Amino acid sequence: MKYVTGLTCRECGETHPLVPQAACDECFGPLELAYDYPAIAAEISRDSIAAGPTSIWRYDKLLPSPNEGRIDLGAGWTPLREAPRLAAELGLKKLWLKFEGTNPTHSFKDRVVTVALSVARSLGYEVAACASTGNLANSVAAHAAASGMKSRVFIPVDLEAAKIAGTTVFGGDVIGVTGSYDDVNRLCTELASERRWAFVNVNFRPFYSEGSKTLAFEVVEQLGWRSPDAVVIPVASGSLLTKFAKGLEELTKVRLIEGEATALHGAQAQGCSPVATAFEQGATEVTPVKPRTIAKSLAIGNPGDGYHALKEVRSRDGSVTAVAEPRVAEGIKLLARTEGIFTETAGGVTVATLEQLVRDGRIAPDQETVALITGIGLKTIEALGEVRPTAIVRASVEEVTDVLGEE
Ligand SMILES: *Cc1c(COP(=O)(O)O)cnc(C)c1O
Ligand SMILES: [Zn+2]
Repeated sequence: MKYVTGLTCRECGETHPLVPQAACDECFGPLELAYDYPAIAAEISRDSIAAGPTSIWRYDKLLPSPNEGRIDLGAGWTPLREAPRLAAELGLKKLWLKFEGTNPTHSFKDRVVTVALSVARSLGYEVAACASTGNLANSVAAHAAASGMKSRVFIPVDLEAAKIAGTTVFGGDVIGVTGSYDDVNRLCTELASERRWAFVNVNFRPFYSEGSKTLAFEVVEQLGWRSPDAVVIPVASGSLLTKFAKGLEELTKVRLIEGEATALHGAQAQGCSPVATAFEQGATEVTPVKPRTIAKSLAIGNPGDGYHALKEVRSRDGSVTAVAEPRVAEGIKLLARTEGIFTETAGGVTVATLEQLVRDGRIAPDQETVALITGIGLKTIEALGEVRPTAIVRASVEEVTDVLGEE
């Protein structure tokens, strides 16, 4: 980890040695990785990045990158697609979709897991663990399997079937906990202090969260080293949004971009929208809620980085919006119908939020906008209700003609 100088507290600035620990000893603020940016700036360039691998590791100078033994299934370098048909439907001039479904386990969580577990293994950890709303479980179990680590994954029992199957298939231990994600997280925080397990999003959280910066790096690089005017980002714990902002700042610090103004907009579903509520009320602290939403991957009632996500959106002229529950499935279908992308519920929340932001005038028609579509729809087909063919016929031309009419 050539350019990492240690851990610093986001609140009080206290520095800590580089150990798996998420909170500051002095003030309990979140710990963050610190880098020697002048040294990075002297060595990094657009060309050196372009010559790197087509994965998040092309940005290894801005990540906690162990010198050897990375656990790498190829996370990142996902497509940034122009979305003219969805843009036209919403009334936008320029819209791009960052589609994370092409990651190894089909969500953006592969970015954070490859970072956290690479560091964990380099520190000699043998057990990979996490508290998950589903996608993280898939990714931790897969990366552990591919590296020979054991996995112990904790999930709320009522997750979507595909998210459970997409975890158990990798052969680790999958523990369903009766209760919400917030109960699972509390349990894992206790376990992390008792066992030498690498909980990617608990004790390894400072390393884990760095992986999210790569979404900002890729968006900027894929736009030709420009920062867009606005980005719509789904919010669960608020880590992705907070680190997307950190990623943009770092690109300026190492002089890869000039540092244009980019508004960040958070997206939540009404059934679990504590950050949106705090935003609307002008509050700085987030009041926890009990989640009741179809968007299970975003169902965190007590978001660990909610406070910081709020600060980021406010300082960047952004917002956090909650969309009504029925609009989640509508968002999924709108995206599929216009752009041929099948996203999960979190993507439905993002698309519905984007629609709302344009309608409310928070995103102007000529603002170049990027929406982060963070996961794939095959994992959450329950959200679409009962699914059946649009018609059923016998294998007969007449019956097809009956249904579809003459040409
Ligand atoms: C985890 C997750 C998010 C957001 O995560 P944060 O906890 O806010 O970092 C967004 N979309 C999907 C699909 C996720 O799995
Ligand atoms: Zn502190």
